[in-house]
Amino acid sequence: MASTRPPVLFPLFAPTTSISGIGPRLGQLIQKVAGEKIVRLLWHLPAGLVDRRFAPKVGDAPAGKVATLTVEVLAHAPPPPRNKRVPYRITCGDDTGKITLVFFHAKDEYLERLLPVGETRVISGKVELFDGKRQMTHPDHVVQLREIDDVKRVEAVYPLTEGLSPKVLDKAVRTAVNMAPEMPEWLDGPYQARQKWSSWREALRAAHNPTSEADFAPTALARSRLAFDELLSNQLALALMRLKARVRRGRSLGGDGTLRQKIEAAVPYALTGAQHRALEEIFADLISENRMLRLLQGDVGSGKTIVALLAMAAAVEAGTQAALMAPTEILAQQHFETIKPLAEAAGIRIEALSGRVKGAARAAILQDVAEGRVQILVGTHALIQKDVEFNDLGLAVIDEQHRFGVHQRLELSSKGSGTDVLVMTATPIPRTLTLTAYGDMDVSRLDEKPPGRAPVDTRLVNQERLEEIVDAVGRAIATDAKVYWVCPLVEESELSDLAAAEARFAHLKERFGANVALLHGQMKAADKDAAMERFAHGDARILVATTVIEVGVDVPDATIIVIEHAERFGLAQLHQLRGRIGRGGKPGTCLLLYAGPLTQTAKSRLTILRDTDDGFLIAEEDLRLRGGGEVLGTRQSGLPMFKLADIMIHGELLAAARDDVRLILARDPNLESERGQALRTLLYLFEQDDAVRTLRSG
Ligand code: ADP
Ligand code: MG
Repeated sequence: MASTRPPVLFPLFAPTTSISGIGPRLGQLIQKVAGEKIVRLLWHLPAGLVDRRFAPKVGDAPAGKVATLTVEVLAHAPPPPRNKRVPYRITCGDDTGKITLVFFHAKDEYLERLLPVGETRVISGKVELFDGKRQMTHPDHVVQLREIDDVKRVEAVYPLTEGLSPKVLDKAVRTAVNMAPEMPEWLDGPYQARQKWSSWREALRAAHNPTSEADFAPTALARSRLAFDELLSNQLALALMRLKARVRRGRSLGGDGTLRQKIEAAVPYALTGAQHRALEEIFADLISENRMLRLLQGDVGSGKTIVALLAMAAAVEAGTQAALMAPTEILAQQHFETIKPLAEAAGIRIEALSGRVKGAARAAILQDVAEGRVQILVGTHALIQKDVEFNDLGLAVIDEQHRFGVHQRLELSSKGSGTDVLVMTATPIPRTLTLTAYGDMDVSRLDEKPPGRAPVDTRLVNQERLEEIVDAVGRAIATDAKVYWVCPLVEESELSDLAAAEARFAHLKERFGANVALLHGQMKAADKDAAMERFAHGDARILVATTVIEVGVDVPDATIIVIEHAERFGLAQLHQLRGRIGRGGKPGTCLLLYAGPLTQTAKSRLTILRDTDDGFLIAEEDLRLRGGGEVLGTRQSGLPMFKLADIMIHGELLAAARDDVRLILARDPNLESERGQALRTLLYLFEQDDAVRTLRSG
């Protein structure tokens, strides 16, 4: 069998518009809630249920309850002409009583066809009491008697979007679920039996046909089976990618330590214990024949940069090159400026490459990289472009900040042969999340901050007091303070962020003139540099910025940060932003401006931030309060968004999936056995095609 999607899955990967009755317009709406392909509808699980099994006589139907009534249509009372506010009323009843159906803005002909006088119809909806009489406003269902069983059941309620009717979505999901084929079982038999899980298809059907509230619990049998399938595909895909990365053997990079000594001599501080420990782990990986795939995890300000530089120096000592990739121009530039003097103190040739290096300058650098004269190359994703060739890339360091995915990570390392990889991440993601994003990667933690970091006083301030804050900022800059002013994140749209930042910039400039600089992502590289430079040198004392400063910007003598609409940010993101101050030994102040009134959750979130500076704690709390997908507050988080699993709840299933994957790959690394083939189908089902492609065809 070639490694292509198995035919059994073809129908599920057709667009939802291939379902009859779903045209381009509805397709768009369905895409919003579920996705473009039919398979995505399978993962769109109901969020609630309506029990329509209660079918009393009209005279016994209590107000406030959903009932399914079999009635005769007695009389129509259309509204007077041209009076849109009066509803259309239809009286129905049985031998025990009457009920009035109420319709606003309905077409007469439509209602005459739907409910012809003298006929029997089954109606279902909530019974209300109005002036002591029973009525039902816009029944959810009106069908003929022979269709009663379609209505008189427990109905799943799906999350909707504006413009999409429950009936349409319900039908689309039902069609998708009915299309789901029997699949070869990919679960381990004994494990499945212990969990009392049914087959995939049965579980899917059960999840879409809840009969009681208990069926919505994420731990219900059907839901947990589906969650496990998703986690298994995630863990298997990560493990396969990792295996592939390890196929080409690593190499032993053992240097004599001379360059490292020179660098250590050039830094004005002693390394922390945590930095030493991380470096020992990294050096051991470099020396070993195995390929390094290591995550260096450390809170903001924990000193990852020097660790990265010393690791790169070790690779250079061993006669190879090293590359450092950062997610933004500003960060790449800053890394370059920080490490250049240190590298040069050790006689290492270092260059920077980013989108802004062009023409002859770029060509010259590329040639020197290709011929091995450049020993350390720093840059943005410009590093993974085709024309960048290394003579011999020994170590790739990726300062991830969650902005790169697994693919980009591997792409940089594939520029060398057996290249070791070190991924640095600033947000201290909880262990459970690390596992989903990186699989079983080795982890080094910088769990100790360098000495001399001054405390930051964090305060929550109502946005209404903006002018007081502006006054306080004025007093602060009069005493030479430097202030970051971060503008609100507006509905994930770059442009509106920009508009907000520009407006605030104009506002503050009126007051403080040339003391204010503006920095945002849409500016030309040179202008960004100029703004950063003015702020760093103190020609400007207030830097108004969008969240571009979140990642790694380092101006040690900045002591104040004002963050507008703090309630719109992720906690981890706020923590990152706050990490910009208190770097130079002087105590800092962080003012979190919020637009009240805050919800209870929003309040607890900001309070946590005010009360602790422990990044791990903050990340855990954020995860607890908001759920995994949102922890980092951005869609570019690089963390997988699970559709069925909730890692806060399914942590044990995640661990089980990881262990299962270890066993699977130990026995059948190429997924060739019967179960292996079934697992390939699982990977395709969850759209992990890239992972299957790492396999030889089975
Ligand atoms: P991170 O990238 O982990 O957020 P950085 O590498 O930018 O942190 O380091 C933050 C600051 O701490 C820098 O100004 C750096 O020079 C300083 N620093 C790093 N290691 C130490 C140390 N061992 N002792 C004192 N200061 C240090
Ligand atoms: Mg950093």
